[in-house]
Amino acid sequence: MPELNPHITQLKPSATLAINERVKELRAKGREIFHFGFGQSPFPLPGPIVEALKTNAHRNEYLPSLGLWELRTAIAEYLFRVNEIKSTPEQILIGPGSKELLFQTLLLLTGTTLIPMGSWVSYLPQVIAKGGRYEIIPTSRKNAYKLTADELEKTCRQHREVQKTLILNSPNNPTGAVYTAQEYESLAKVCRKFDVLVLSDEIYSLLSFKQAASPSMAVYYPEQTIVFGGLSKIFSGGGYRLGFMALPETLFKLIPLYQALFSETFSAVASPVQYAAVKAYEYPDTLVAEIGRNKTILQVAATYVSRELEAAGIHCTPPEGGFYTVIDLSRHIEGLRKLKPRNSLELAAHILEETGVALLPGSDFYFPADEPVFRLAYVDFDGKKWSAQPPDLVTSEPEHIRKHAPNIYRGINALVQFVQGL
Ligand code: PLP
Repeated sequence: MPELNPHITQLKPSATLAINERVKELRAKGREIFHFGFGQSPFPLPGPIVEALKTNAHRNEYLPSLGLWELRTAIAEYLFRVNEIKSTPEQILIGPGSKELLFQTLLLLTGTTLIPMGSWVSYLPQVIAKGGRYEIIPTSRKNAYKLTADELEKTCRQHREVQKTLILNSPNNPTGAVYTAQEYESLAKVCRKFDVLVLSDEIYSLLSFKQAASPSMAVYYPEQTIVFGGLSKIFSGGGYRLGFMALPETLFKLIPLYQALFSETFSAVASPVQYAAVKAYEYPDTLVAEIGRNKTILQVAATYVSRELEAAGIHCTPPEGGFYTVIDLSRHIEGLRKLKPRNSLELAAHILEETGVALLPGSDFYFPADEPVFRLAYVDFDGKKWSAQPPDLVTSEPEHIRKHAPNIYRGINALVQFVQGL
């Protein structure tokens, strides 16, 4: 056995993988499963992006490590148009998914990474993999687990002497919360005071239900925010593996370092995919309409799920964008104590066996393991079929959901029955 890097051997396969494996096994045995554990876009890739990929399939040349200039230009213009983020094409870097770009960024930085409780599952393993220090910042249910300026300030005081990098994510995975402009302003004040670098994961930005796009931290703290985005969620292109990051002007000096890192690791993103992505980020009116229609459907699914769960006494975070909500079964703690499972991972496994509903345990998202908190993804439906409905007929009425999102209808029923039987 070779000697192994201890940072990597600390990593465990995430609960997400374990649940997905179990879902596969149960499905193979013919069990009906409601897969609320999976966060993939339920919609097809928009036609113009697929066409652009086909047209460019012959392109076999390596592209520049930082990305195709035409794509970097299109993204800079798109970010200004939809998010009011000011940047030049030089500041936009392209990579194989925003996840990889985030990892490369964490590799480049020293100091402590700050992660709010209720954040995406991969942030911490990435910090651990590079051997970094971190701190999970407490958040609370009453505030939909959004980071407050007070909590950030308290944490920053404890880490005064070291460089601090804060990871923010809005619309949020797992909570579905969207930070407001005011919340960003007050966080920005603290960040300025303690010289905090922010990595703002805005991969779900256009899927914010209340507005055309979620506010961007880069507008309120332009001097030290790096924005991450990509094709995966908004354009339903997870498998294309294309993400971008937008660096602030103040970090211009990092560009040659990224260039070295990229060229020595992944070289460059696949050429045909980069040409196809230009189509997405030109963001013509037809795409604006298609994404808008997808968002309406997501919002309808979210409304149905949160309404039915709340009516049954199951607390969930108000879904304001993206694919998710966090449900909290604390009100049913007495009934849950009678069951064997002792933590949210074991409980998620129990709920899957009992009801066919796959949820992810809150412990994967930095909630205490003994709290009965879970992430529920409400994208287990056929987005292609549902979006073929005339928009004015798409409603959150139970009959409509039963017809067009039968797994959501039946899965939520099964979950409600389970909780009511506790
Ligand atoms: N950030 C968040 C919050 C996500 O939920 C995901 C995917 O699940 C990603 C980043 C990864 O995106 P990409 O496909 O661009 O690597």
